[in-house]
Amino acid sequence: MNFLSQLTGSFAQPAAENPTVTMIESAYRYHDLDWRYINCEVAPSELEDAVRGARAMGWAGFNCSLPHKVAVIEHLDGLGESSSIIGAVNCAVRRDGKLIGENTDGKGFVESLQEKVDPTGKTMVMFGAGGAARAIGVETALAGVRKITVVNRSENRGQELVQLLNEKTPAQAELVIWKESYCVPQETDIVINATSIGLYPDVDAQLDLDVNSLTAPMIVADVIPNPPHTRLIRDAAARDCTVIDGIGMLVNQGVISIQYWTGIDADPKIMRSTIEEVLGI
Ligand code: NDP
Repeated sequence: MNFLSQLTGSFAQPAAENPTVTMIESAYRYHDLDWRYINCEVAPSELEDAVRGARAMGWAGFNCSLPHKVAVIEHLDGLGESSSIIGAVNCAVRRDGKLIGENTDGKGFVESLQEKVDPTGKTMVMFGAGGAARAIGVETALAGVRKITVVNRSENRGQELVQLLNEKTPAQAELVIWKESYCVPQETDIVINATSIGLYPDVDAQLDLDVNSLTAPMIVADVIPNPPHTRLIRDAAARDCTVIDGIGMLVNQGVISIQYWTGIDADPKIMRSTIEEVLGI
């Protein structure tokens, strides 16, 4: 064998377990897939070379997280439908030799939602207007949600998302600038926290929300996977709402990514139990 034709990488990995890596690799093992999912830290200045490296090494694709979700686009060969509307990519997939950018975050949330309700014609209140909110807003709109009220602290980001939803999806969107305790209108079907409020270690952080306006049969969801039982989820469950935690979205976006790369439908139950084990739930 000409060893110049092979490169064997060697790099230091932080000792702490990365929940996403552990989750994806547990699915590979469970489905007898001889695949690997490796976490690499990439500095923004090295992003172009990293993507070129992924191509050169024949990777089937990769996930990317902040701060690369927008910047990676110029290094890819094309975008899927919703990622081109969202304007951000968290999953690249090699198709016919080309690297195509997809966004599986919002699709993962819609799958969790569809386990509880058909989104068609529903009204939704969404807290937040950052990357997760953009992905969820676009995908829920494409899945049939009729009206989306974006509740966001900063006006600029909120306005940008509302404009995007109104111009590029069939949903009708409006902005509420979040200056005081928000009272969820009683006709709302779905409420979602798409902000980072409640993420570990700020586990008791609370949305500025009148919790008594959360009533059954509303569906109340949170994007925060760690801890999954956020204050919002606990408050909503105590008021008999149907709740969806952030682990479902995390697992489902992983299932969709694996489907894109390998063509295999991974078992979400295995992936969820791996995540729960890593998080010590
Ligand atoms: P961004 O930084 O892009 O956006 C953060 C959003 O949260 C903004 O709308 C921001 O408002 C709002 N926000 C943050 N702190 C506060 C506060 N104290 N009061 C009011 N609003 C606040 O982050 P992302 O959208 O990328 O991520 C948001 C969360 O989603 C993260 O915690 C991440 O872990 C989670 N996530 C979960 C996924 C899953 O699979 N479960 C997948 C992707 C993300 P403003 O515009 O005013 O600054």
